[in-house]
Amino acid sequence: CIPIRRGHGHSKGLVVIFHDITRLKKLEKIRKDFVANVSHELRTPVTSLKGFAETLLEDPTIDESERNKFLTIILKESDRLQLLIQDLLELSKIENEHFRLDVEKTDLGVITEETIDLLAEKARRKKIDIDYNKQGLGVVLGDPTRLKQMFVNIINNAIAYSPEGSHIKVLVMEQASEVLFRVSDNGIGIEKSEIPRVFERFYRVDKARSRNSGGTGLGLAIVKHLTEAHEGRIEVESEPGQGTTFNIFLKKYKHK
Ligand code: ADP
Repeated sequence: CIPIRRGHGHSKGLVVIFHDITRLKKLEKIRKDFVANVSHELRTPVTSLKGFAETLLEDPTIDESERNKFLTIILKESDRLQLLIQDLLELSKIENEHFRLDVEKTDLGVITEETIDLLAEKARRKKIDIDYNKQGLGVVLGDPTRLKQMFVNIINNAIAYSPEGSHIKVLVMEQASEVLFRVSDNGIGIEKSEIPRVFERFYRVDKARSRNSGGTGLGLAIVKHLTEAHEGRIEVESEPGQGTTFNIFLKKYKHK
């Protein structure tokens, strides 16, 4: 609030300046929540690693089989920590304003086949079969490494949140001006109210279940960012207990 004065300090009027601080406050809250989440996510595995290492060192009564059990847990927790740090670094790289995609003419069919090959062993262990179909050309202007990263996250989730022996359908379909990449599973599904939240960093519908599935809680946040960087869009359809479909629409490649 600034008084406007004329001559020798007589007040002529007031200029009132309103700043919209709600947006800033919201951003500040998101930042604080993120830091709190990261601290928690990092502290949990470290505490567990420390505990098991100390027990191994200090408890002379531990037998061979217990020792192996503890070492297996230590290895699993270290893997989780490594994955989390990797995803955090990825997200911060992608969110950086200087981040640029390395775009080239890319066949989504090839990227999809490579992704399915990469995850075939994981699917096989859960007796899940992945059915892949391609309709039309499916060529986009995109960053192949990043597109693969997106597809890995989506198909990996479909495997993680589906029961043993289920089916996953993957489709690449050329449309009028876009190419659709679709993954449908018959897994646990997502409640309608939770759907928009799954793209938030560290948001998990069921924390314990997601941890057990080996996820970091950052996968879909990364996918959303990368989809937007490609000027594409991502949509989710889901029915709890029935399954989930993720649709990613990317602009079709056009000859200049
Ligand atoms: P996470 O590492 O926990 O899987 P993501 O960011 O990849 O993290 O996904 C966020 C949350 O969205 C998951 O924890 C899970 O609750 C839900 N989710 C993602 N994909 C699926 C799916 N195909 N079926 C059911 N739930 C899913």
